[in-house]
Amino acid sequence: MSQIQNDLNAVQNRISEAARRSGRAPESVRLVAVSKTYPFDAVREAWGAGQKAFGESRVQEALAKIPLLPAGVEWHFIGHLQTNKIRKALPFFSLFHGVDNADTARQMDRIAAESGTFARVLLEVNVSGERSKYGFSPDALRAEFDSLLALPRLQIAGLMTIAPYADHPGEARPFFSGLRELRDDLQQRGGVLLPELSMGMSGDFEAAIAEGATIVRVGSAIFGERPRKEE
Ligand SMILES: *Cc1c(COP(=O)(O)O)cnc(C)c1O
Repeated sequence: MSQIQNDLNAVQNRISEAARRSGRAPESVRLVAVSKTYPFDAVREAWGAGQKAFGESRVQEALAKIPLLPAGVEWHFIGHLQTNKIRKALPFFSLFHGVDNADTARQMDRIAAESGTFARVLLEVNVSGERSKYGFSPDALRAEFDSLLALPRLQIAGLMTIAPYADHPGEARPFFSGLRELRDDLQQRGGVLLPELSMGMSGDFEAAIAEGATIVRVGSAIFGERPRKEE
């Protein structure tokens, strides 16, 4: 078994165990393998080992990999989406995790309408309030949520967050529970369902699952140390 197959299996087992510990069904947590910055060979290997959903954070890099795997593979856009890339990206991704401001949301709605399609999105929330992070503040999202719900071509499936870096994974839990509570609040006020909570990465996905994550985004625990730094 290759290193990637081995590490992918180990991550899947850890996901299942974390779900069971919280009394959740293992199938209630989906793994997006974050392949950004890794070469296509690594993606093909994970795909060969049964992985069906991949996450990329740059449009250009993703569009080079996407045509190389069969159409049944799911591609998730997990980064900050520049508005000038929306039109290019829209047809290729089944879910956009990083919709981090109302202007981007409105432009996605408009471009989806022009293209005769829909944009399926998660709204990114900056739960920790770190200045370096993208995302709606919880208060801004509460204030803008009704206007976002009214965008006819935007399908809001849930929320996404990135916890601050921590030495101990447990330290991330308050940010994950914060996202879940905000989701519950928005569901109630808006009278809508927001089933997806995208939270948890290599260093903290078990803590995220304990707080209700439905999607975890895991890169380096599967593919190894990242070959180059992100910008
Ligand atoms: C890179 C990235 C990940 C994966 O990070 P790892 O620590 O390698 O698991 C998850 N989510 C987002 C938004 C990312 O940019």
